[in-house]
Amino acid sequence: MGEWLRGDVVANEIKEKIGIEVDELYRRTGRVPGLVGILIGENPSSKIYLNIKSRECEKLKIRSEIKKFPADVEESEVIKEIKRLNEDENVDGILVQLPIPNHLDSLKIIELISPAKDVDGFHPENLGNLLLGREGLRACTPSGVMELLKRNSIPIRGKRAVVVGRSFIVGKPMGIMLLNEDATVTYCHSKTENLPEVTSSADILIVAMGKPSFIKENFVKEGAVVVDVGVNSITSKEELLTLYGEDLKKMKDIDEKGSTLVGDVHPEVINRASYLTPVPGGVGPLTVALLLSNTLKAFKMRMEILE
Ligand code: NAP
Repeated sequence: MGEWLRGDVVANEIKEKIGIEVDELYRRTGRVPGLVGILIGENPSSKIYLNIKSRECEKLKIRSEIKKFPADVEESEVIKEIKRLNEDENVDGILVQLPIPNHLDSLKIIELISPAKDVDGFHPENLGNLLLGREGLRACTPSGVMELLKRNSIPIRGKRAVVVGRSFIVGKPMGIMLLNEDATVTYCHSKTENLPEVTSSADILIVAMGKPSFIKENFVKEGAVVVDVGVNSITSKEELLTLYGEDLKKMKDIDEKGSTLVGDVHPEVINRASYLTPVPGGVGPLTVALLLSNTLKAFKMRMEILE
């Protein structure tokens, strides 16, 4: 039986350090970092995620603001706002909460954010810098996973890492970060043949599929480190029982809040893995901590320019 690898513990350590640095910088410069999140439409998860990000900013005295647009907003209006925020001296970080409505071109919009303020690390320039191993703002979720591995002294160099998922948000940058740390990396996706055979070769298995409890014990090598990035909302107790098994806390969530969260990895995997991240309390809190860290980094880079 393996151990639960808690991301919230590492996230708290990271946030504590950021808070101290924000205070110090404020004493020195009279300024605090500023983050603007753009919310388009009424996606309930997007609202929750942005509110969590704002709340965490407030705790560390990072200024934060949410700019809201209706779901049917004209693309030109969003573009105008991003251009304005790019020029705003008080804004260090800009993020567009994804997904956005289909009539908008998310890549075109992300590309308009100044790379120096792109705290999500999704701008082609920042993704390119990651590929080249150069300084830049890095995607928050995979950066959080790297912090989790490093701070738990999990060896990466020379290890076989398998990443399930190839989105530009998680999977692709995740594999490059592991490669940059000398892992031997394999990507899997929906067209991968014999998925369990490939994932069973992993010393480090990172799963970012968006498929509840998909990865079972037979997908995992004995003693592997398994990181579950997936966040899936389950609203029915029957579905929870079928997919996940009996869990009193999650059943109570459905009774009280109408839904509960499960990862892409079935909890039975803890019987085979050396480490497994829980959902919630695993990668999610790290994503937020790394966003705050990127906002501080963007602020410091801009202060150097302004000074
Ligand atoms: P996405 O854009 O939908 O990508 C999912 C990836 O999984 C795709 O590359 C897809 O392959 C692959 N996939 C789907 N079904 C598969 C299958 N049966 N076998 C193998 N591969 C399969 O999702 P995402 O944005 O990367 O997010 C993935 C998950 O992570 C979601 O649950 C999301 O909510 C969660 N997430 C969590 C955090 C956090 O902070 N914890 C942050 C971001 C995302 P194809 O490319 O072939 O379609």
